[in-house]
Amino acid sequence: MSKAEELAALAEEMRRDGSLPLTTNLVFGEGNPDAKVMFIGEAPGETEDRLVRPFVGRGGQLLRECLGEIGWAEGSVYITNIVKRRPPENRDPLPEEIEAYKPYLGRQIEILNPPIIVTLGRFAMNYFLPQAKISKDQGKIFRSGGRCIVPMFHPAAALRAPEVMRQFRATFGKLPQMVEKCEEVLRAPAAARKPGPIKPNTLF
Ligand code: URA
Repeated sequence: MSKAEELAALAEEMRRDGSLPLTTNLVFGEGNPDAKVMFIGEAPGETEDRLVRPFVGRGGQLLRECLGEIGWAEGSVYITNIVKRRPPENRDPLPEEIEAYKPYLGRQIEILNPPIIVTLGRFAMNYFLPQAKISKDQGKIFRSGGRCIVPMFHPAAALRAPEVMRQFRATFGKLPQMVEKCEEVLRAPAAARKPGPIKPNTLF
């Protein structure tokens, strides 16, 4: 099976899984199955549920505009969420919703096997880095297993606060350099790779 076929099968399995909480459309994710960079947000909002696509509302427009600014085609990356159905009234996903959807995210990551994961907001960050704090750790590169994790602010948070927007855009502008750095680190012999943040991190 190709990666695209494996992803389609996983999406179908999720649609049929009656134990999953929330009842709106399943917004599975979209993009290049061979993407180097996978973006993971929280959960679909109203527009995402209606169009059955991740990150196509206001926050998504910001994300997609920033991708264009760094010269990355939308179809060159992969975009998804931890929770794949819209929580009512756009509330935060509940811990039990995150827990229920987590195994599927894990399998989606295994299929895609991206070297670099950019988390958008604290929920996705805490999936990989339970101790991390978004205001302190956004824009740093962490290692988790054989991948690099780059936590970023959620674009919706950037739209609410000019200072968050400044930092969101600044980190986004550094993503191409960060990808180079991640690839360099991931090429290093396994013995030289220790868990935790990549140090020295002065480049960023
Ligand atoms: N916010 C998210 O976290 N994900 C989306 O897909 C849209 C908004």
